Amino acid sequence: MSDTVFDYDLFVIGGGSGGVRAARVAAAEYGVKVGLAEEDRYGGTCVIRGCVPKKLMVFASGYRDAFADARAYGWEVDDGPFNWHTFSGKLQAELDRLEGIYKSLLDKAGVERFEARAALKDAHTVTLSTGEEKTAKHILVATGGRPWRPDIANAEKTLVSDDIFNLKDLPKSMLIVGGGYIACEFACILHGLGVEVSLWYRGAQILNGFDDEMRGFVADEMRARGIDMHSGENVLEMEASDGGMVVKSSHGQEKTFEKVFYATGRLPNTEDMGLEGIGVALAQGGAIKVDNYSQTAVPSVYAIGDVTDRVNLTPVAIREGMAFVQTVFGGEPTPVDHELIASAIFTQPEMGTVGMTEEAAMAQEPVEIYATSFKAMQTAFAEREGRVMMKLIVSKANRTVLGCHIVAPQAGEMIQLAGIAIKMGATKEQFDQTCAVHPTMSEELVTMRTPVRTS
Ligand code: NDP
Repeated sequence: MSDTVFDYDLFVIGGGSGGVRAARVAAAEYGVKVGLAEEDRYGGTCVIRGCVPKKLMVFASGYRDAFADARAYGWEVDDGPFNWHTFSGKLQAELDRLEGIYKSLLDKAGVERFEARAALKDAHTVTLSTGEEKTAKHILVATGGRPWRPDIANAEKTLVSDDIFNLKDLPKSMLIVGGGYIACEFACILHGLGVEVSLWYRGAQILNGFDDEMRGFVADEMRARGIDMHSGENVLEMEASDGGMVVKSSHGQEKTFEKVFYATGRLPNTEDMGLEGIGVALAQGGAIKVDNYSQTAVPSVYAIGDVTDRVNLTPVAIREGMAFVQTVFGGEPTPVDHELIASAIFTQPEMGTVGMTEEAAMAQEPVEIYATSFKAMQTAFAEREGRVMMKLIVSKANRTVLGCHIVAPQAGEMIQLAGIAIKMGATKEQFDQTCAVHPTMSEELVTMRTPVRTS
């Protein structure tokens, strides 16, 4: 097929963070003709049913501590019950506003939008659920992922993260199954909003894959706040009852929860898209296999974001989208750098993390561990429970800071900045040469003098 016969230079499937960014930049900055299909809402998981509404719920939930602190600081304030209806009405309006912005960004860039489901017919053709067919020189799959729950009887009567933002009322009690990002974040959020939360995690410690000591610290803090945490425990069976769901656990306990929420991971959205039929290779679990340039086994088809299951975070999908545009339309082959990505888990307190865990670093080379745990000034004055922990992992050989882990209020904000230094390859001595900002929590990052352990 020659270039002239294509309807578009680029057709993007999926209007989430990655797809919208790639479409917009390709059209606005490189002047290419772009079409985009979205079957649901623009903004995708992050904006509509993930990061954004979740963070707004984190803010809502945090006022519980803020009221208590305010009283401790001398303010005469009462904290009445949380009104979910007031909040959720505002939340939905905000999501509508953000979706509108996403649509108008695409429109202003000249991207042609199709509110339809798309599948691939061949290496250059997509078929839309409207019955139309569109051809494109390049096709970008950015369809994201969706929550997954295990195949257990009555699982369809339970909630997944998508449902939480659309609840008509907040339940009195909730069981959260899982111990990853979503389980832990929502356990804290919902507890803060007044729900009695139990969390059952099948493994020994929540937040698998993160630094062991920090995982334990977050778990202790969550427990201390009143979340009923059970590790090594899973759902054996459950059935609906008048009061909600009667759940039997692998430990033999039987309890009724008004709602059960499965936060047991996500699956890439690759089903019924014709991908394998045209030669796009999928990994076990359904993720699209791509090279460093996000190119699939079919040269004209690229894929970015959660559908590729590399690092499933919004800013990563956006970077992958930008690198794709630069590679394909900017004439500059740009591999995506997935090293040293800082991230935050919005538990209460938050965890910010970048680089290697202590366990991974110790397995790799001799290291020094610098760590501190303390009660933050603001919390201590308010006589509220809750500690902060900070940790640096340092290479003995070249003094590079290999990892930084923070559990503290605002740890997400702190780790963004620590992440710059670590990405630049800063050494422990360069951290030490940096004058402290006083009085702050993060000053501890530049004042830890003696290792607590070495290997
Ligand atoms: P995760 O993969 O992080 O966690 C899934 C959890 O479910 C794990 O604890 C896992 O246990 C458990 N699990 C898996 N299968 C079963 C089963 N059959 N029965 C019981 N438990 C099970 O997924 P999430 O859904 O929490 O999050 C998905 C992704 O979304 C994350 O990986 C992250 O990339 C992204 N995300 C990022 C956020 C952020 O940056 N703040 C916030 C929310 C999501 P085990 O550990 O034993 O495997």
